[in-house]
Amino acid sequence: AMVQDKAAVEQFFSLVRLRRDPNDWLRYCHTRDPLQRIAHHLSNSLTQSEFAQFIIRFEQSQLAKQVDDTKHGRLRATPAVRESVCKTLGWKRRKFEHHLSIGRKWNRVCGEYDGLLCFIMHSKRGGLEVAPESYWAMADEEVAEFHRLLDDSYTRSICAAGKAFQDSLGGAEDTEFRWESINLTPAKVLEENMLSYLAPFPSISKNIYDPTRHPNWPRPQAWPAEWPWPVDPTLEGATGCELCEGTTACDCIDNGFPEVKPRIKRYEGKGLGLQAAAASPGQIAYLKNARIGHITGEIVPLDKYQESHWVLEFTRPDIDSADTPAVCQLYCGESGNCFRLLNHDCKPSARFTPKKVSGRYIMVVEALKDIHDGTEITVSYGNGFFGEACSCQTCK
Ligand SMILES: [Zn+2]
Ligand SMILES: [Zn+2]
Repeated sequence: AMVQDKAAVEQFFSLVRLRRDPNDWLRYCHTRDPLQRIAHHLSNSLTQSEFAQFIIRFEQSQLAKQVDDTKHGRLRATPAVRESVCKTLGWKRRKFEHHLSIGRKWNRVCGEYDGLLCFIMHSKRGGLEVAPESYWAMADEEVAEFHRLLDDSYTRSICAAGKAFQDSLGGAEDTEFRWESINLTPAKVLEENMLSYLAPFPSISKNIYDPTRHPNWPRPQAWPAEWPWPVDPTLEGATGCELCEGTTACDCIDNGFPEVKPRIKRYEGKGLGLQAAAASPGQIAYLKNARIGHITGEIVPLDKYQESHWVLEFTRPDIDSADTPAVCQLYCGESGNCFRLLNHDCKPSARFTPKKVSGRYIMVVEALKDIHDGTEITVSYGNGFFGEACSCQTCK
């Protein structure tokens, strides 16, 4: 099937790359309501870019999923339901039925292969031209046969990547893909072990502490003599929380941060970075001193990684000392959330600061000044991070 061709994977790379443009037009839509988002995207996708074409297909498909009760036996919506959704969207009936009917066609083609839409070729791409109509025209038996052809581990893997991308368009946390952070060109990825690079980078919502992976974990020099060792160096013990100022267990680790997450963008000369996103366009995304999120990774012994870019020194403010001493490293090279992508700037807009949540220290990302929607969030990794000729935005 065409969707299993290399060109289909190239199209997916291209969609992800277009989405990483700091000025992609999707960034002007911030609503978390699916219908409002669909209306916004389908009404504003005036450009003929490949990305816009994909977004139209995706939102048409989402519209049909919203309207039809696909979860419960694929029931088609009654005229009354359609009437009401159409009203919510503020559309003329013809426009609504047009998008709905195309969305239903795509959902029939994709069936249970959620994420497949990213790999269905746009007719203008490459020599493999397949007009949408030839997909839509398939009879029921042909669709069933098409789905049988797709039933393999390769297709399941590419669909998982496609679904992660589609979910991020729907407002979920942005997904980073493995090939993006290892600086491989799509051509190279296609040659090598592509499926592992296509996979989303393993995202974790909490730090990993697994002492069995680091036998004989050395006691940090700053560790107070009266404190037990070995233990998780981020564990304080008491249940207090510096975020909600509560004294009992709380859910701040999951819910103590803004609901709208920063977006992953590609910045010239710097690679991937994080863009501030406000609840609505043009606003201040984070006020000075606001908490933006917290960075996650694996807790490893101090000095475990000497040369890695993916390491953060983890300090404990509650240790009585002139300087805040490091007690471990936070390693984000193999797992971690999007905050591992924060770029350096000599005049940063944010900083890492350890805070206690439910008796455990986490590394919170805090705004140093008001950060506007659409601007890059930066931190300082120390003077000379980029060597003598610093290439950060401030020094350039
Ligand atoms: Zn709390
Ligand atoms: Zn600089």
